[in-house]
This record gives sequence, structure tokens and C-alpha cells, in this order.
Amino acid sequence: MKRCVALVVAAGRGQRFGGDIPKQYKVLGDAAMLRHTLGRLSAHPDIDEVRAVIHPNDVSQYESAAKGLGLASPIFGGQERQDSVRLGLEAIAADPPDLVLIHDGARPFVGAGVIDRVLDALEHSDAAIPALTVPDTLKQIGEDGHSASVDRSKIWRAQTPQGFRFSAILQAHREAAGQVLTDDSSVAEFGGLTVAMVDGDERNFKITTRADFQHASSLLHGALETRVGHGVDVHKLGEGNSVTLCGVLIPHDQGLEGHSDADVALHALTDALLGTISAGDIGRHFPPTDDKWRGAASVLFVNRAVALLRARGARIVNADITILGEAPRIGPHRRMMTTRVASILGIDNGRVGIKATTTEQLGFIGRREGLAAHAVVSVQCPAGLP
Ligand code: MG
Repeated sequence: MKRCVALVVAAGRGQRFGGDIPKQYKVLGDAAMLRHTLGRLSAHPDIDEVRAVIHPNDVSQYESAAKGLGLASPIFGGQERQDSVRLGLEAIAADPPDLVLIHDGARPFVGAGVIDRVLDALEHSDAAIPALTVPDTLKQIGEDGHSASVDRSKIWRAQTPQGFRFSAILQAHREAAGQVLTDDSSVAEFGGLTVAMVDGDERNFKITTRADFQHASSLLHGALETRVGHGVDVHKLGEGNSVTLCGVLIPHDQGLEGHSDADVALHALTDALLGTISAGDIGRHFPPTDDKWRGAASVLFVNRAVALLRARGARIVNADITILGEAPRIGPHRRMMTTRVASILGIDNGRVGIKATTTEQLGFIGRREGLAAHAVVSVQCPAGLP
């Protein structure tokens, strides 16, 4: 698979917007505008890493906006947007990805559909951008002061994320340094790249004015929709004297094998949470090949999934977990497990189901070779957003 980094440009001062803090740090719904943007990009299963390009004065605000999302350190931008992007590309060039998506921090409602379309187009193009048609009739005023209509069928509004093969756009940005170009597709064109266009999304609008901000707030505070996610996990039983289930250490005459603490119940729960927002699976976010997660407490995985959900204004309604195994017995630990899961999810114990069943000694579970878990969660998300 191609490695893809999303570079989020968030170094602007927001002069047009005004106010005492740059607009990307203004609280939109329950979180800084930039947190929505970073969370949505980090959730996408085909984006391996999200890096923000920020102003050096904004470090503390950035750290609170990115808290819990597990992002690598931010990159400091330059005077103009174009300088910030070039500095961002240079900063990741030491470990170059195959693809880069360059996105405006002030487009907080970027959805999986538009990202997928850009990535699809990069299969056969060096550059791809999402764009929308112009609904209004366009006018041009001539020197005589009279207006004339412009053929709008050839006019498009460019959005972000704009996607590129990394080496091609890095080269184009180096060549274009000192030019004044308004976006990265213009830099790509300057560098002679062919730019493919895919359908944008009206909901992926850029917040430039106070009215845009009001509109964004109203979408987050509007009607809600219910979503459901499902997760399954299996781990092998081996030698040991305890198992960890739902974050609770339970004495047992066997142990669970796995890269992390092998908590099947929390792994299934993590996948269920990720499933509600189309965020791929636990292996994509926490690769077992990464030593960072060796022996990790699985509560970290659930916390990250919850952070991704909250960053987009989602609320967890309930979770229901079923553990399959002959032993250990779950009943004596159920209340502690319920309390643990409820506290991780930030919901009441009455919204957490912990159940257990045997498989009547059938199959690998019946032979005590492993434990399995299923989890279902439901969440409420703003209905007007992708
Ligand atoms: Mg697992």
C-alpha cells in the first residue's frame, strides 16, 4: 500500500476573520475548529500520518487542539501559505511518503468520500483536486462599465484536500518558491504537472468569515443521526496466570497471547467505535508491526477511538460487549468491567452491557484455545455532515 501523509495548513493569522485568536483555534461545537479537521483526516483508514503546519506563536493552542489524537509534532510554517506548504513538504522529505494530501485547516468537515475520490485519481495522475461547479451566473465588467456573462461551464471552485505524488509536488514547490500562487494545484500547474479534477463536497466548505463559522456551528448543533458500529476480535490462550478483559486483570490458569495486552473485549470495542465513523480498524491505527504498541494497555486504543469520535461532534449512546469463552467466569468481574468501560467511554454504567457465553465446548473456544469478543456501539453524530 502507498504511504500517505496529510499536511494540514494552519499557520494563518485569520485577518479576514478577526478576533483575538486565529480562527482555526476557535471552538466550534465542542472542540477547536482545527481539531475537527485533524480528527477527520486521522480517522481516514488510508491516511498514515497527519502533520499540521502551524505558526510558532500557536504551539500551546495547537497542543490542546491535537491532544489525544496521537499526531507527530507540528511543523512551523512561513510568511505566506505557499511558504508554509513548502516548509511542510521539506519537513517530511526526510522520510518521504508516496502521496501527500494538502488540506486547509479551516475546512473542518472534510469527509471520507472526497478523500477517497482524490486518492483514486492519484492512481493515474500526479495531482488531483476536488472541485465544485459555480451555481450562479458569472459576470465580467468591461472597461466601458458594461457587464457581460462568462461561460460558467468551464469555471470550477477548487477545494482541498489536494492530492499529489510527493516527489512531484515537492519538486514543483521548490521551483515555485518566490512566486505568488494561491493554491497547490496552481503550484503543480506551474511545475508542469497534470491536475485531475474530482467532485468536491459542498459540506467541505472553507471557514473564512463569521457567517461561515455560524453556518458550521449550526451544522454541528443541528439534527442528529444514530450510527451503529460492530467489532470482533479473537486472541489465542497460552501459558500465563491472568487475562485482561475490559481493562480488568482476571486471575486465570492461562494467559492471552498478543502484541498488546491482548484484551479481546477492548479490541472489539475499539473496532466497533471506529466502525461508526468509517475509520478502518484497530490494526490500521495501531499496527502490530509497530514496537510502540508492544505490551500496550488496550485502553489506549479505545481512548484514541473515542477522541476521533468526539473530535467530530459524535456522542456515544451505548456499548454492548459479549465475551465468548469457557473460562474464566465473567460474572464475578462483570461490575468492575462495566464500570471500567463506562468510565473509558464517558457514559453511565447503565449504557454498557457486558455479557459472556460459552460455546458448549465446541470449536477452538470450547477447547480453551482462545477467547473471542463481539462489541456493538451506537453513537449520535450531526446529521448534516459527511
Ligand atoms: Mg486483538
